[in-house]
Amino acid sequence: MTDRRTLVRAPVATLSNGHRLELVLHRVRGGADGPRLGVIAGIHGDEPLGIEIVRRLLAELEDETFRGELIALPVANPYAFSTLTRNTPVDAANLNRVFPGNPDGTLTEQVAHVVCAELLGSCDTLIDVHSGGNLATVDYVYLTGDEELAKVFGCELLYRSTPPAGSLAACAGERNVETLIVELGGGQQCNEHFVQKGLRGVRNLMKHLGMLDGDPELPDAQLIVSELADLKPHEGGLLLSSFGPERLGEAVAAGVELARVVSPYTLDVLESIAAPFDPTLLVLVREAVTKVDPGDYGFIVANGATAVVA
Ligand SMILES: [Zn+2]
Repeated sequence: MTDRRTLVRAPVATLSNGHRLELVLHRVRGGADGPRLGVIAGIHGDEPLGIEIVRRLLAELEDETFRGELIALPVANPYAFSTLTRNTPVDAANLNRVFPGNPDGTLTEQVAHVVCAELLGSCDTLIDVHSGGNLATVDYVYLTGDEELAKVFGCELLYRSTPPAGSLAACAGERNVETLIVELGGGQQCNEHFVQKGLRGVRNLMKHLGMLDGDPELPDAQLIVSELADLKPHEGGLLLSSFGPERLGEAVAAGVELARVVSPYTLDVLESIAAPFDPTLLVLVREAVTKVDPGDYGFIVANGATAVVA
């Protein structure tokens, strides 16, 4: 670690097992005045890819000169990461629904409070990196405010929406910290591809903000979608997908079967999941064979008929 990078250990609480829970932040000074960019990953514990994007980013940037400062929190929810679960195992709460948190609240609310205190006061712009979890793969960014900010990250699909209530992005918005929510990779599919896409995206955004020289590297075509459907299976079992991660972003005609759920016991087909829109754009998909429970993320798809060019 060079002297440009500083480690900050922010205490949260002592758990019943005696462990001191702390959040570990990194500050990298670029060597010249400029904007302060925050990058956070691991709000959901089953999304390790974002952590790796932050790790690589820090390793690259501490040897480079740039304008401004990078403040990074690679693992926002260490106990959820340790169990690879979306929610905190201690209190079963989703960290990204309890912001701004509460210093006198549940453990997850205390974590949220420390994230806000350490991160939101220290940056002007924030990138919140997510993935598809253990069994699904995803590729899009949210467009919640500044369209150019969402576009320059370089994903092919931008989802026009408002951040969910209680999310870090919603909380940051109230404090005038412009936040980009990124959804990249997951399901242990195409990991290096998505790490590189994430690194390119952060660098694109740093170029856009004037922290790095050069123009953002963008794909040939980018679409803004405003209608997403979350296709949650009603039946649990084995989900057999016909559209894996290599098909992300593709357009599929309405009615085409995306996947079927079969019982691993009777081997009967329990449910067929079909493309609802004409065309249906694939936003979150599953690899060929995964386990599914009712209400899990099966597929997320966008209405291609109302998509517009970014
Ligand atoms: Zn997430």
